[in-house]
Amino acid sequence: MADVIDPSTGVLLTRVPGMGLAETDAAIDRAQRAFDGWRNVAPGDRARLLRRFATVVDEHLDELADLEVRNAGHTVGNARWEAGNVRDVLNYYAGAPERLSGRQIPVAGGIDVTFHEPLGVVGIIVPWNFPMPIAGWGFVPALAAGNTVVLKPAELTPLTAIRLGELALEAGLPPDVFQVLPGKGSVVGQRFVTHPAVRKICFTGSTEVGKSIMAGASDQVKRVTLELGGKSANIVFADADLDKAAAATPASVFDNAGQDCCARSRLLVQESVYDKFLSMLEPAVQAFRVEEPSGDTAEMGPLISAGHRATVASYVEDADVAFTGTAPDGDGWWFPPTVLLARSTGDRHWREEVFGPVLSVLPFRDEQDAIRLANDTSYGLSGSLWTRDLGRALRVSRAVETGALSVNSHSSVRYWTPFGGMKQSGLGRELGPDALLSFTDVKNVFINTDS
Ligand code: NAD
Repeated sequence: MADVIDPSTGVLLTRVPGMGLAETDAAIDRAQRAFDGWRNVAPGDRARLLRRFATVVDEHLDELADLEVRNAGHTVGNARWEAGNVRDVLNYYAGAPERLSGRQIPVAGGIDVTFHEPLGVVGIIVPWNFPMPIAGWGFVPALAAGNTVVLKPAELTPLTAIRLGELALEAGLPPDVFQVLPGKGSVVGQRFVTHPAVRKICFTGSTEVGKSIMAGASDQVKRVTLELGGKSANIVFADADLDKAAAATPASVFDNAGQDCCARSRLLVQESVYDKFLSMLEPAVQAFRVEEPSGDTAEMGPLISAGHRATVASYVEDADVAFTGTAPDGDGWWFPPTVLLARSTGDRHWREEVFGPVLSVLPFRDEQDAIRLANDTSYGLSGSLWTRDLGRALRVSRAVETGALSVNSHSSVRYWTPFGGMKQSGLGRELGPDALLSFTDVKNVFINTDS
């Protein structure tokens, strides 16, 4: 049994039984038995079922959002976007089954064709920070490509995934095609790694656990997609529209209380505008509304747990605090937006993923210095740069080693564009036109036409 707690109050919401090994094996066996039927559903019918699933999610959008506000402390605005994102990803990949075409390649003496075959049972392992979207980015393309899915939500945030599993059945997906298995990573998640019927793992979470999954998967040459940690840079050049950059910076790192793998948690400001930019940033940080998350005006809610709040606080002790925003007192795991001045690139808060509302700041000299500092990390997930110089925007975009970059903006994730990390931030890409193929294997067939 796992306690499910409202992080804005610390009150117990419910308790969710975790699956044991035998139950996990039974669910994987059912998924394996359901595979043949699902892969043979006519493409147009599979598409229709995914569209119907999208409609049912849309009909339950407020209910799902409310569950996430209470279970994860997400602001209601974010939670509505997240439920809507599941719907949109379903609609997007509902267009895939009829378009999953192979090739016909010219050969002598016959015909050569390729097929994108589904893999079988796919295991999706989800973290607690964005329970709904991250689940959807895995299970939707996997289903669209003809696989069956077992999905393990994080122990702290299982409620929306469980509900999505019920809504799939309500939408008419056959039983056992999409199963949600709450439980421990060391039990359910680990079984996905060792069970031979699970042919691919799509994992989002910490770099540490991701590495152990990749190592374990090698035993069966199991396919993996990994979406791991980040320590992304936000680079502000002196020629940028500083008003816009300063106004956008708080949300770029404090959204979801900084519990975002794409958080721009390192701010690099060109030294000629460093003091000016910090003085513009301070009021923007203080105005960032950290409030009870079910209110429409909230821009940030609490952290996920007491333990995580203690971890985040440990980065601020002994650091140089430039300024902070505000947060409610009282129960719940609240932490104010905090801006730290890095003494050097060796500072722990500059190097490690804090995964909380903590921004580290350093000045840089010139373009080369900015690129060097941005790349001085083992991560490479996202990032932003602000400049009015188009040539510089392109040069720096190409030079920063990161999977998703925004120029004069902080956006990173659109369901129809690729998302994923370079270096130790991950392996493979989710979303966009190509993610579907990572849930398939290519089969080449030669047909002899000689008489
Ligand atoms: P975590 O790695 O502790 O857990 C993630 C999931 O893996 C959970 O469901 C957990 O139960 C499971 N798990 C744990 N140990 C396991 C094991 N041995 N075998 C199989 N499964 C196991 O991460 P977290 O604390 O839940 O999430 C925060 C991390 O996720 C951060 O590092 C963050 O950067 C990362 N993240 C990355 C992305 C991305 O797209 N790159 C997105 C969101 C979060």
